Amino acid sequence: MPSDTGERMTYEEAVDRLPGRGVPSFWVGSREALDERLDAVVRGRVETIAQSPGDRPIRLVAYGARDEPERRANFNSAVAARDPTNYADRDERENPVVCFVGPVHGHEVEGLTGLCNLLSILETGSDLRGESRPVVRQLADQCRLLVVPCGNPDGLARFEPDSLHGLTLSDLEFWGQGTWADDRLIGWPDAKQQHPMTGENVGFLGCYFDDDGVNPMHDEFFDPMGPEAPAILDVVRREAPDVTLSLHSHGYAPTLHRTKYVPPAEQADVRAIHREYNSLLGARDIPTLPLVDVAAESGTPPPHFNLLSAAYHVSGTTGVLHECPHGLDDLCPASHEDILETQLALYESVLRYAVERDG
Ligand SMILES: [Zn+2]
Repeated sequence: MPSDTGERMTYEEAVDRLPGRGVPSFWVGSREALDERLDAVVRGRVETIAQSPGDRPIRLVAYGARDEPERRANFNSAVAARDPTNYADRDERENPVVCFVGPVHGHEVEGLTGLCNLLSILETGSDLRGESRPVVRQLADQCRLLVVPCGNPDGLARFEPDSLHGLTLSDLEFWGQGTWADDRLIGWPDAKQQHPMTGENVGFLGCYFDDDGVNPMHDEFFDPMGPEAPAILDVVRREAPDVTLSLHSHGYAPTLHRTKYVPPAEQADVRAIHREYNSLLGARDIPTLPLVDVAAESGTPPPHFNLLSAAYHVSGTTGVLHECPHGLDDLCPASHEDILETQLALYESVLRYAVERDG
């Protein structure tokens, strides 16, 4: 995708482009809507795991009993001892552990909506449209399920449209990656050229970033710049999930990305999840993209390390990186309903994989 097209957009122009329409009642595209959903949690246990630079809480919702594994070593030392059970004996656990990490990019509210609908299913058996979801509920009930609905509340607070559905790539670039001081859209992947995204050359700070300009997907994991990524990695480290899902969105059809810098066997597991996921989407007439590759790390420039790579290296978790369509008019139109179905099909695939691998 071309990033710097030289296109400019001011904040006033971006707001003027927002259509005068609401979002469906099952949609969760703002901090207020998220808080309302978290207030409705009774069965799950809600915990604040960090405070953002903008002083907003990052919350974890947990379902299912925790098996406290005997832990003699951290993951990489356990592996070096040739026995990962020194870190966590996953076979000894009663139930698989699954971690769903909501958007660390504030405008990618498709995952936030999906997870809040999942919370509703876990609380009431029905999604926020009132539709009963017995398959997802029954799979989830066989797991310890950890849900971080929003991994970047500062970015979410900066997101005014509530949904990019029906808008265009330019709107995505404005709200997502932001602008330089001369109002040029930064776009992707140029938004990673400068990190943290601070300084006089920055115009509108995109929802990719927290209030300190940090993109949690590309924090400095050995010397953290922000609180979001370390809080997520702490949950992963202490819970040793079998699978960790990181939710993102883009302009195209739903897909998984290869998790880099993890063993090929882990990548093959993600490919198997992708196959099941694509077949569920096909049954719902939702477009799909080709299955994610299994590959060695090579090339110039080399593949990049990110939050999900780090999640593997602190816990051995199988990391699944999902991209959901925003429903942009000029790239991949999708209704709000299709976006919700996409999310729920993904959760079903991941939960089934965890339950079947455990069984
Ligand atoms: Zn993202």
